[in-house]
Amino acid sequence: MYSKKIVIRYTPEIVQQPVIYQLVKQHNLVFNILKARIFPRREGVIVLELSGSKENFDNGIRFLKEMGLKVEALSKSVSQNSDKCVHCGACTAFCPTGALSFEKESQKVLFDPEKCNGCELCVSACPVRAMEINLL
Ligand code: SF4
Ligand code: SF4
Repeated sequence: MYSKKIVIRYTPEIVQQPVIYQLVKQHNLVFNILKARIFPRREGVIVLELSGSKENFDNGIRFLKEMGLKVEALSKSVSQNSDKCVHCGACTAFCPTGALSFEKESQKVLFDPEKCNGCELCVSACPVRAMEINLL
């Protein structure tokens, strides 16, 4: 079973269409909506966890893009605010993928977006709210 958290951005033209229903029905996928902000006749954003076989997942993402939606991994929306981060290292204990790591030489906590899976554990772990999820 393949599973990934994704961000889907809607345009006003397709915000009224049952895209998620078609996605799971046609591609045999299971979804769990984590966040949603949709306004009638305006743009919107949905964060969901999508699960299924890798082939069905890839076909589903292709379907969404062909519908004109912007789709990307939730991890692409995660960032480390360098103005706020005090390099305390608290987040590294919670990060399950090693995307946040302490570098001895510089004495700094580094963020590698390529390793991030978008779990958001660092967001609540950070005492100064330096880890951010930018959805819009
Ligand atoms: S917990 Fe926050 S302040 Fe501490 S290293 Fe991580 S991002 Fe920086
Ligand atoms: S969102 Fe999860 S995987 Fe990404 S940096 Fe934060 S704790 Fe690590």
